[in-house]
Amino acid sequence: MEIRKKVKEILSQIPENVILLAATKGRTVEEINQAIEGGIKFIGENYVQEAEEKFFKIGKVVKWHMIGHLQTNKVKKAIEIFDMIETIDSFKLTKEIDKEAKKKNIVYPVLIEINSGNESQKSGVLPEDTEKLIYEISKLDNIKIEGLMTMGPVVKNTEDIRPYFRLTKNLFEKFKNLGLKNVEMKYLSMGMSDTWKIAIEEGANIIRIGTGIFGPRT
Ligand SMILES: *Cc1c(COP(=O)(O)O)cnc(C)c1O
Repeated sequence: MEIRKKVKEILSQIPENVILLAATKGRTVEEINQAIEGGIKFIGENYVQEAEEKFFKIGKVVKWHMIGHLQTNKVKKAIEIFDMIETIDSFKLTKEIDKEAKKKNIVYPVLIEINSGNESQKSGVLPEDTEKLIYEISKLDNIKIEGLMTMGPVVKNTEDIRPYFRLTKNLFEKFKNLGLKNVEMKYLSMGMSDTWKIAIEEGANIIRIGTGIFGPRT
């Protein structure tokens, strides 16, 4: 099915408050433009350099989210391109974003990435370390935490992802009530092509879909 139709089909199945973010790593500007014609308003990219090349051609007709691991030395460029970074997992990285945001005199929105499967090889902050990180970040003047993101482990049966989404949602609810300045839990980003229905059931309001829109990655 063509990209435009896929986007429309998914949009017709999700509640109005849920953001459909197209995960566009490895996709061409042509493919992305078709998704935009179908109704995509948010794009997620994993690499700063790849995003930069596309941003140059597509521009600000959509919102850009960073959904890949961000290196400290790419922060300056990243915050020029991206409207939000979803993958915050360390204070060091966030301090760097704060520094660049200060120079631009903006308060920059981020999501904290939760390593909900406690997987040593994956990025994201461990669930038990998250509250401490949020306290630290909340002291930075030019950062605002707007929610949480998680990938979750690779599972055989899609239903097996549910506990990891539920764990992340529970943290989301808990952090809502911390009463910290610069922390407002608005966005819960979870669910991909195979798991977005479960994610919405568990409270996601950003779903990130690649293959479900563009087909298999080649
Ligand atoms: C690639 C990617 C997705 C989308 O994955 P699909 O299985 O292609 O839908 C979502 N989130 C992140 C962080 C990704 O890197």
